[in-house]
Amino acid sequence: MDFAIRDMDKDIVKLAADFAAKRLAPTVHERDEKEVFDRAILDEMGELGLLGIPYGEEYGGVGADFLSLAMACEEISKTDASIGLSFEVHTNLCSWPIWKYGTEEQKQQYLKPLASGEKLGAFGLTEPNAGTDALNGSTTAVKQGDHYVLNGSKVFNTNGGEAEITVVFAATDKSKGSKGMSAFIVEKGTPGFTYGKSEIKMGIHACVQKELVFQDVVVPAANLLGKEGEGFKIAMQTLDGGRVGVGAQALGIAEGAFAHAVKYSKERVQFGKPIAKFQAISFMLADMKAKIESARYLVYKAAVAMNEGGSYSLDAAIAKKVASDVAMQVTTDAVQIFGGYGFTREYPVERYMRDAKITQIYEGTNQVQQMVISGAILR
Ligand SMILES: Cc1cc2nc3c(=O)[nH]c(=O)nc-3n(C[C@H](O)[C@H](O)[C@H](O)COP(=O)(O)OP(=O)(O)OC[C@H]3O[C@@H](n4cnc5c(N)ncnc54)[C@H](O)[C@@H]3O)c2cc1C
Repeated sequence: MDFAIRDMDKDIVKLAADFAAKRLAPTVHERDEKEVFDRAILDEMGELGLLGIPYGEEYGGVGADFLSLAMACEEISKTDASIGLSFEVHTNLCSWPIWKYGTEEQKQQYLKPLASGEKLGAFGLTEPNAGTDALNGSTTAVKQGDHYVLNGSKVFNTNGGEAEITVVFAATDKSKGSKGMSAFIVEKGTPGFTYGKSEIKMGIHACVQKELVFQDVVVPAANLLGKEGEGFKIAMQTLDGGRVGVGAQALGIAEGAFAHAVKYSKERVQFGKPIAKFQAISFMLADMKAKIESARYLVYKAAVAMNEGGSYSLDAAIAKKVASDVAMQVTTDAVQIFGGYGFTREYPVERYMRDAKITQIYEGTNQVQQMVISGAILR
């Protein structure tokens, strides 16, 4: 497996790392405490070219690849997992299906402003009664002449209320099951498209999740993504790529917490020596490092598989499951190494631990990843 990346791609990953250090690190604690999403951060990332990493220049992107995207998401999430998520949802969950299934007109009209960072993207699949069971949704799209009329609601929508462009999934014919869902590109400001409650969360405080409400929303038929009835397939394929992104986010969270734990263990003195000198601590650090490197291999492997085109569902499921479990274990151990101080908000490791938890849940829970992996083994 070759993880070599081109020099120009290294530059974009370095840009993400520098942005995280200079722009995100100084305010990450305050934004987490105040639970605010700072849209200006995403706008600045767009100006730097970070919001269209894997897409071609003809579509407003920088023409790098999915490995560089994963590495950039890792770098951002090392410092700020909330911005890591907002960035990942924009680039993978909203832009990717338009890049993969959009017509040339749709790419020019929607992918270009997304990839250039002029507009922010979102992905609306989950509903109150349709989480893992995504086909159980009640949002409908009824065709009337040259447009569709959407009714229903979506929950947990990352970037909701901010995103100018949302890929929304709705039933066009419930009787057809997985062939009865379709995907639509819906613009902010379309009459009848409004926002409901914002979620109050355990972690990733500095990004937003809102309810989306559709009341007789008229969407031009030209905004149908792919063919009518292809929505479920588009959603599942999009989530495969999203899982590489969540794996990268989880890897970054683990690395961020680990770096703090190493530094603290060298500084904190008990019994007259730094706690890093106790084997109980140094071996814990050794295990954390080994887990991070295993997760890194799997996340990069899945990103390379994504570059290569073929099917990467299995690689993505393994990467997401392992990296998110590693993030949870490593951040919990980081809190342990900080002792009582790790449990306080004075130090950042408790934030990493809160942020790690969600990586085991969204874009397919880890039980869903077990289903994908066992399904592939037992096929
Ligand atoms: C912070 C955050 C951001 C999110 N962002 C988005 C977004 O941008 N767009 C979007 O569409 N969604 C988003 N989601 C939704 C997220 O993807 C769902 O929460 C997730 O898919 C799980 O769905 P659920 O919460 O309804 O859980 P449920 O599906 O109700 O699952 C509950 C439990 O049951 C288990 N379970 C369910 N079915 C099975 C089964 N068949 N076999 C075994 N176990 C099963 C699950 O693993 C889980 O442990 C977000 C959620 C959060 C919290």
